[in-house]
Amino acid sequence: MTSNKQPEVNIGLVGHVDHGKTTLVQALSGEWTDQHSEEMKRGISIRLGYADATFRRCPEAEEPEAFTVDEHCDDHDVDTDHLRTVSFVDAPGHETLMATMLSGAAIMDGAVLVISATEPVPQAQTEEHLSALDIIGIDNIVIAQNKVDLVDEERAMQNYEQIQEFVEGTVAEGAPVVPISAGQEANIDLLIEAVQSEIPTPERDPDEDARMMVARSFDINRPGTTWDDLMGGVLGGSLVGGQLDVDDEIELRPGREVEEGGKTEWQPVTTTVRSLQSGGDFVDTVTPGGLLGVGTGLDPAITKGDALAGQVAGPPGSLPPVHEKFTMDVDLLERIVGDDGGEVDEISTGEPLMLTIGTATTVGSVTSARDDECEVALKRPVCAASGSKIAINRRVGARWRLIGVGTLR
Ligand code: GDP
Ligand code: MG
Repeated sequence: MTSNKQPEVNIGLVGHVDHGKTTLVQALSGEWTDQHSEEMKRGISIRLGYADATFRRCPEAEEPEAFTVDEHCDDHDVDTDHLRTVSFVDAPGHETLMATMLSGAAIMDGAVLVISATEPVPQAQTEEHLSALDIIGIDNIVIAQNKVDLVDEERAMQNYEQIQEFVEGTVAEGAPVVPISAGQEANIDLLIEAVQSEIPTPERDPDEDARMMVARSFDINRPGTTWDDLMGGVLGGSLVGGQLDVDDEIELRPGREVEEGGKTEWQPVTTTVRSLQSGGDFVDTVTPGGLLGVGTGLDPAITKGDALAGQVAGPPGSLPPVHEKFTMDVDLLERIVGDDGGEVDEISTGEPLMLTIGTATTVGSVTSARDDECEVALKRPVCAASGSKIAINRRVGARWRLIGVGTLR
């Protein structure tokens, strides 16, 4: 029952606030998160906005004009062919909580960087988001030079050159820069063409163990639901490997904190997959790509209010180890990104850091720091494989700022 509308790739939508990310997703998908009435989806989208878009091709038209999101090609009066469904993850661009951006980055296969042609390049979050992509190693990038309807040709060219200069030496160097107007839906065909060629669907190994990064968890029952009608806890997130089927047994790690004999300890949680939701449909099987809702047999009290966000799920016994403390190799940025970016000082023993690993965000206290490695004790344990990338944030003034990247030993 796997329909071809299941999204097969996750594309991050990043860029400065007001540069047109939401408008672009609207132009591509004809919908936006707010319009989903279903609770599971709404829940996921609050933290990581997302929408699915289906790219299509008119069989009678020349490329790139043939690329479209419409089901019917009016020019040639034929139905268009399905190419693929992609899932856009919209990073919040306001007073950026970098951690949210980075937990989105953990499930992105590529990114569209939206840059407005009306402002000098780079604006604060343009720079911040690009360095996050750099750090996480997302190098399949398309740059959408948006709002070209608001500038004359000369300014568009100047802006284009500023973009080229800005991305030099970054992961986005060489990425196509596509002038568009998301607001007027102009050059959307060119953008689809660029995304099709630059952000391919990654090759997947269906025999691999299923690996789900949990970004959200909820209790979807209305208050006062009777025991008979009570639905099990729901997990929202993304599958990054393998395949998940209804009735599969899954384990969640780190699991939950349980008290035994006056001591608390984290124990894995095991449950059964009761339902799967992807691309807006209930399905029997899911493969990686898109946002996924998993109905489980868990007591909803365990999944309520994102209690399991940041955890990892997969077949019992297959998951990476759980760490309450770890050592990481550290690469610090030279400067803090953003408008007021000062130099990044060395990490010191005793200082608190906010660490993002996969979809998990946890505060750690530095127990020992050397030049290029540091040991941290975590407030909440994380499940992660050796070699995992860790975004390191330090409190500067009122907010957490990205200062570097770690690699789990
Ligand atoms: P976001 O913060 O990046 O999600 O930006 P939005 O999509 O919310 O857009 C910010 C504002 O710019 C809105 O008022 C949009 O209507 C407007 N806007 C977005 N794209 C275009 C465009 O291509 N042309 C024009 N003229 N306005 C646009
Ligand atoms: Mg927006």
